[in-house]
Amino acid sequence: MEPLSADEIRRSFVNSSKSQIKAMTLPSRFTELPWESLDYLGWRDPKAPNRGYLVVRREAGVTGIAVNTQASGAARRGAGLCDLCNTAHHLTDVALFAARRAGTAGRAGNTVGTYICADLACSLYVRGLRELDVPQGETAGPEVRAERLATRLEGFVNRVLA
Ligand SMILES: [Zn+2]
Repeated sequence: MEPLSADEIRRSFVNSSKSQIKAMTLPSRFTELPWESLDYLGWRDPKAPNRGYLVVRREAGVTGIAVNTQASGAARRGAGLCDLCNTAHHLTDVALFAARRAGTAGRAGNTVGTYICADLACSLYVRGLRELDVPQGETAGPEVRAERLATRLEGFVNRVLA
């Protein structure tokens, strides 16, 4: 994706209050991110570990979505799939994130829940740029997987905006 500026990111959020955006911590080493390998910019908030952010360039402009996850203290065994990139992970490396819906639905407390790679690094997994220690059932190549990721991401964004 084309690099985003800090301003573009802060302006992009569709499901956050002004105070939440003000409290947001941008990714560390922001200018050194591997933009050419990203389908979306995703990161966990270093100062609020249960919060995460996904920012995607779409035809309509830049759309940012804030998500929350509940850290579970219980040890979990087995594997799980990311709903966006279909990467298989140990259950501790995939998280159920809730995104508040945009607008009145969100203010009424409605959320969209999705399992996503816990580090929000789907783009790196589909390209084989981040190591995995779980056998993968997926056999498609990086380009096909990146296309599918973009399609599922658009579906997720539309559910939040709907
Ligand atoms: Zn993923």
